[in-house]
Amino acid sequence: MDLLDESIVPEHARDVKQTAREFAEEHIRPQAEEYYESGEYPWDILEAGMDAGLVAQDISEEYGGKGYDLLQILAINEELYRVDAGIALTLMLASFGCEIVEDYGSQEQKEKYLRPVAENEQISGLAVSEPQTGSDMAGMTTTAEKTDDGWVLNGEKYWVGNAVEADWLTVYAKTGDTDDRYSNYTMFIVETDTEGYEAEHIPEKMGMRASKQGHIVFDDCVVPEENVIGTPGGGFYMLADFFNHGRVVVGGHGIGLAAHAIEETWEFVHEREGFGRNISDFQSTQHILADMRMEFEAARSLNWRAAEKVANGENAGFWAASAKTKSTETAMMCAERGMQLHGGRSVLNEYPISRVYRDVRIPVIYEGANEIQRNLIYRQSN
Ligand SMILES: Cc1cc2nc3c(=O)[nH]c(=O)nc-3n(C[C@H](O)[C@H](O)[C@H](O)COP(=O)(O)OP(=O)(O)OC[C@H]3O[C@@H](n4cnc5c(N)ncnc54)[C@H](O)[C@@H]3O)c2cc1C
Repeated sequence: MDLLDESIVPEHARDVKQTAREFAEEHIRPQAEEYYESGEYPWDILEAGMDAGLVAQDISEEYGGKGYDLLQILAINEELYRVDAGIALTLMLASFGCEIVEDYGSQEQKEKYLRPVAENEQISGLAVSEPQTGSDMAGMTTTAEKTDDGWVLNGEKYWVGNAVEADWLTVYAKTGDTDDRYSNYTMFIVETDTEGYEAEHIPEKMGMRASKQGHIVFDDCVVPEENVIGTPGGGFYMLADFFNHGRVVVGGHGIGLAAHAIEETWEFVHEREGFGRNISDFQSTQHILADMRMEFEAARSLNWRAAEKVANGENAGFWAASAKTKSTETAMMCAERGMQLHGGRSVLNEYPISRVYRDVRIPVIYEGANEIQRNLIYRQSN
């Protein structure tokens, strides 16, 4: 059973999909449980991923990357998440936020910040969410005030991937106080060794433990004028556009996780015996597997359709939110049913289904909680 079969994947994305599959089997699967248990940052696997050309390669060739498009990135994500979501997230977050610099940044910013990430000498991150809200993007309170020295940042960010490990971050901060709440935000590049930048890891998570998020405090952190990305006041709109791409990719996280749940469950029920027969002989078991499979195929079709739409800029907000919601909720459904069919063994850490069950709780929240996605789907359905 090859759930992530390539027939739905455009031809130009198939080679890198295969590379990601082989990489995940060789480097991620053997260490997935160990990293889950330890909650350590998987530096060695990140470095191997860099060597394999799977990290930060959406950055264009002009700045040292391979210029992978959305469809290629989606193909990579499905494969990596199918094997372990925590490690996959670490690999994917190593260039988080770079797309905003590539789309809106100056030539100097691209040369100075994108190239080292593309050449795998540095890693980045994106700081939007705050302790009080992650959903209300026009309600964030970290401020950036313009002075003669540049911009002075004050406030806090929470949940930021690589806040401790990254060399620089793309940071979303409030720069205005106009009645139009969507025009009050600006994007900045902030180097993490700047005075007034402090970050520590947030408490241990129950899922995706091989990825690390941090709590940042900006205390009179001065950022030079040349680190403003694009037009001041345009931050909200830059993010909205960025999230359309990100949400299709997070849909791929759901698809990979769902595939993992189905594979683990299929194997388990075909080995487990009960009442003098195989568990898979019960029709109720077969129906559950049939439901999982149907939901998976429906979600994956939607996700790839959405990827084409978003890549072509056709009603991107609607398609991205739909793909993210359907795929991540399909992962939850497959993990939950898969747990039931594993019986008591479902709660033993040594069975990967328990890891999948914990991990699927996360993509329904990050890149915008699914309630926010439903708001967008409804509003953009006209
Ligand atoms: C593992 C992980 C990694 C992350 N990485 C990053 C990162 O790298 N950078 C970053 O900036 N952020 C990151 N996040 C943060 C993530 O984007 C936020 O958690 C998410 O946007 C939700 O924000 P919140 O947790 O503050 O929940 P809240 O905004 O407090 O919302 C709580 C709940 O309230 C409900 N709700 C809120 N608003 C509405 C509404 N308008 N309509 C209906 N219901 C609503 C939803 O059920 C929602 O789940 C990460 C989160 C996790 C868990």
